[in-house]
Amino acid sequence: MDLFRMLGGGARFDKRRFKDDIEVFQPKATDTGLNADAEAALTTELDFFKNKTHDSKKSKPVKKAQKKAKQEKGSGSDSDGDVASEDENESGDRNEDKDSDEDSDEESEEEGEEEEPTGFANTEQLAVFRNHMKIRVYGTDVPNPFRSFEGLAKQYQLEPYLQHNILEAGFKKPTPIQMQAIPVVLHGRDLMAMAPTGSGKTMAFVLPILHDLKGPEKAGYRALIISPTRELATQIFNQIKKLSIGRKFKICMLTKATAATQGQAPHLRQKYDILISTPLRLVHAIQQEKMELDRVRHLILDEADKLLEQGFLEQTDEIFAACSHPSLQKSLFSATLPSGVEALANTFMRSPIRIVIGSKNAATETIDQKLVYCGSEEGKLIAIRQLIQRGGLKPPVLIFVQSIERAKELFHELIYDGINVDVIHSERTKAQRDKIVEGFRQGKVWVLIATELMARGVDFKGVNLVVNYDFPQTVQSYIHRIGRTGRAGRKGEAVTYFTNDDQTYLKSIVNVMRESGCEVPDWMLAMKKPSKNEKSNLRKKPLQRATINTMSSYDKKKIAHKRDMVANSKKRKAGVSQDHSAKAKRGKGESKEAS
Ligand code: ADP
Ligand code: MG
Repeated sequence: MDLFRMLGGGARFDKRRFKDDIEVFQPKATDTGLNADAEAALTTELDFFKNKTHDSKKSKPVKKAQKKAKQEKGSGSDSDGDVASEDENESGDRNEDKDSDEDSDEESEEEGEEEEPTGFANTEQLAVFRNHMKIRVYGTDVPNPFRSFEGLAKQYQLEPYLQHNILEAGFKKPTPIQMQAIPVVLHGRDLMAMAPTGSGKTMAFVLPILHDLKGPEKAGYRALIISPTRELATQIFNQIKKLSIGRKFKICMLTKATAATQGQAPHLRQKYDILISTPLRLVHAIQQEKMELDRVRHLILDEADKLLEQGFLEQTDEIFAACSHPSLQKSLFSATLPSGVEALANTFMRSPIRIVIGSKNAATETIDQKLVYCGSEEGKLIAIRQLIQRGGLKPPVLIFVQSIERAKELFHELIYDGINVDVIHSERTKAQRDKIVEGFRQGKVWVLIATELMARGVDFKGVNLVVNYDFPQTVQSYIHRIGRTGRAGRKGEAVTYFTNDDQTYLKSIVNVMRESGCEVPDWMLAMKKPSKNEKSNLRKKPLQRATINTMSSYDKKKIAHKRDMVANSKKRKAGVSQDHSAKAKRGKGESKEAS
């Protein structure tokens, strides 16, 4: 645009027509808005808006807009109850037009009318801001985003304890999904939110719920959060705990143990305000009439597309049926929301607002994604061994495989490669799973081999590398798996191995890579897309793969011997304390024994 401006009058650049080219040349603000570049960009942006807002003090309809929003909150639904089509969206394409008006420096006639409480002087500023933050919104009467936590606090009279806890958590600036989703929830609207992995979606639903609940009431559950896995549920529980310090909310995470308590003493559940659960456990409790959810006002599905997939759908349905409050507010959050799922969601949401941060179905931009051709299954094992030998496995590393069986197989291979590796899947006990996750968080486990169980939601801050040892079965799985790295604006790396058998499906991943700004060789771009049928088959069932095992019988004997040694050394270690000085002593002890 600067170039065109320099060219002077007469030269106009059709932004809509050259949308793709613009994207190539535009500086990339990260989706999380958290890394240095984005923060700098945001600061500049905020300064710009501050000045602008200051200049134009035409506003008085602020109150009008607030009133309108309140009315809407009361009614809980829009006039027609329909979801806006992409044509009706507030920003999206229309932003492009607004952008081109930017050049003319003309002030819009109606700007005064559009000035809303968040301090945007006019719709143009709002559109530019959303564009810059890569926020796209679809739906009617979408509340404005906020730009700083201070602004949010002022505008919505955020409880001081919440403000304090945000600061304590070290969150200086909101991420784009937080900027837009929090006001939507605070306005009582149903929401479908799609934002990249690691971009702070949890806080985007926790904060407005806490605000809305005000304080503990001891009158039964008022908010319900569903997560597909127990690991993620625990994480959400911890996040709520952290953000609610200072208010004695009673939060229940439904586990085997708590489910039992709830059954024995129904009066106990009256004490709780918030419930977090996996679907199966909750349905079980509902069926046994141990759970009353008729006071629930907020229902959140985290990793919503997973919860609306076949397999989970029946359970989710049952939960919906149990949440019978007439003004139940539903929010869906995920990094991926395939259109089929979106259509399904539309059937049970009331005039929802849809938020998309970044491109739809793209991965987080701070992740460097690579595809590695390994030819065969054997080639994959060689590739990972080479990676280890080259020192390319900088811990912590997550390795994804397609089945429990293969997780075990790979574990039994890598355990002899001198790395500190563990394996997690649903056949391990809950206690084991908790311990492994904890060990991985604390750096005791360097390389964690995992199944799809760990693909979604779990926030390991420092994961450097995700290896898709087995090619993922869906694009969504790919995005979530690699999303375990590059979280909260950090950099991360993702490597996906593929063999001759995987080639049919490669193009889907290539598209994600391109969408998220990674370099992809031309030949890959020229590849054929998998057909609908092929995609659906792979979704249902993973490819059959040769066992992960490259060893000769000689190797196996050698390894069996090594295994015994490892087992013995483990036994010895078990007796020694865990701290560093003890470790040093243990090292000496071992060498003595060896000698
Ligand atoms: P998502 O659900 O989008 O995958 P999470 O909610 O798990 O992401 O958040 C990823 C990480 O970002 C967490 O460690 C969280 O504490 C951190 N985070 C969330 N919001 C902010 C913020 N505004 N500023 C800095 N870090 C944040
Ligand atoms: Mg999440």
